[in-house]
Amino acid sequence: MKKPSASKGLIEDLVAASRILADQQVLDAYGHVSARSDKRADRFIMSRSLAPALVTAKDLMELDVDSEPLPGDKRKGFIERYIHGEIYRARPEVMAVVHSHSPSVIPFGVTRSKLRPVYHMGSFLWSGTPVFDIRREREDNDLLVRDRPLGLALAKSLGKCTCVLMRGHGMTVVGDGVPEAVFRAIYTEMNARLQLQATQLEGPIEFLSDAEGRGSTAANRGTIERPWELWKKRALGRK
Ligand SMILES: [Zn+2]
Repeated sequence: MKKPSASKGLIEDLVAASRILADQQVLDAYGHVSARSDKRADRFIMSRSLAPALVTAKDLMELDVDSEPLPGDKRKGFIERYIHGEIYRARPEVMAVVHSHSPSVIPFGVTRSKLRPVYHMGSFLWSGTPVFDIRREREDNDLLVRDRPLGLALAKSLGKCTCVLMRGHGMTVVGDGVPEAVFRAIYTEMNARLQLQATQLEGPIEFLSDAEGRGSTAANRGTIERPWELWKKRALGRK
């Protein structure tokens, strides 16, 4: 199998990301992470259809601008790879995407309650958390983003935000690199859990202001290597 056109460092980061997200229980047997190729901006790299905890470098596939495998690669890709491809097409600055079925996020996709940043680790959510309702796109659906038109509709719902919730399904987050997308997937789940806890207490909930959200998002970018190294060691160390 031809090696994906991406640097060795990016391949290593992607394998680590799959293991980390499984280790942190953001992904179980479902969900996936991808990265835009650092050698060809019109392509992206993600695993073949496989549980994230089992992903190795050999399982990574290169997908073209339409989310299809390169000629000759007969391996089975994820059904929902169109989520990734259409976001890369719509958002040139996005370098990595995580799609998960993060449990604490689900209630916010099926109610009127908005997921909003309750603490600095979730500050990137200040940009808004639109809800993608697949039924509005296709009445007869199986909840999966299984083709390009659905991927395009999801990317439209995401707009310029960092996170889009998917009604009755999960969420998708984007980042400027693999560590940032992983960070956001982990802290979207935590923020959702904390917001649900806060609703049990005397309200109203004091959310981060937009200015705080913007400032804290920039500050977190400066320290992302610290959790990334820790998560990587935990996830890869025990294999
Ligand atoms: Zn899914």
